[in-house]
Order: sequence, then structure tokens, then C-alpha cells
Amino acid sequence: MASATCALCGRQAESEDVPLTWATSMENGRQLLYCDVCARENVRGIEGKLDSVYW
Ligand SMILES: [Zn+2]
Repeated sequence: MASATCALCGRQAESEDVPLTWATSMENGRQLLYCDVCARENVRGIEGKLDSVYW
């Protein structure tokens, strides 16, 4: 298994397991990973799909 890599910044997890602080998102049948930093910055965007009026 390749180590977990952030889909946004390319940062790699230190272990093969996805850290608990990382976020996962299923898009088009593929699982995307976001590191803790990107997850925090993009949590609105991810959840924003449910409430795009907010922006
Ligand atoms: Zn990242």
C-alpha cells in the first residue's frame, strides 16, 4: 500500500494508515484524502455541497 497522500497539497502521511485528523471524501467512486490542514480549509467546500447558498 502506498502511503496516504493529500489530494490537495500532496503531503504524505507518515504511515500507511490515514491519520485520524485527515478527512476522506468519496468523489466519482474514488476516495480522496485531505490532510488536517487542507481538511480544515476545505471542510466548508466539502460540506458546502449541501449548503452552497452559504457562499
Ligand atoms: Zn493537504
